[in-house]
Amino acid sequence: MEVLIKELKSNKCKITPQRIAVYRTIKESKDHPNAESVFNKLYSTYPTMSLATVYKSLELFVKLGLIQVINIGENSFRYDGRTDDHQHIVCTKCSKIEDIDSNIFENLSLQVEDISNYEIEKQQLCFYGVCAKCVHKSNSK
Ligand SMILES: [Zn+2]
Ligand SMILES: [Zn+2]
Repeated sequence: MEVLIKELKSNKCKITPQRIAVYRTIKESKDHPNAESVFNKLYSTYPTMSLATVYKSLELFVKLGLIQVINIGENSFRYDGRTDDHQHIVCTKCSKIEDIDSNIFENLSLQVEDISNYEIEKQQLCFYGVCAKCVHKSNSK
């Protein structure tokens, strides 16, 4: 939480209870929520908060590098409290996103640098599939 307050202060952004609540929700979520689900979680505690406020706060946090945004296609943006390098896997049935922590990706950037002559700044990989729960569901039908 101190990180947020420090960043907001040094960028001359207002520190509001809503912004703090949005930040906390993203940092505590493991499921990479979208803006609507953050809004739905907070609505009962902050009835005056609008969806636009949630969007704007999330955009601000992304800009400040406090969280990251994952675009899973069709303009569907999901937010992640983790900003370290890690990869994602998306279930095409239930849209759940999970983290993949593995060192198999470690040398990938170096290899891409080799073939592209680019200096890689970050890598974001997204895998798509059907999660075990959804496979089970469609098999039991
Ligand atoms: Zn699923
Ligand atoms: Zn993640």
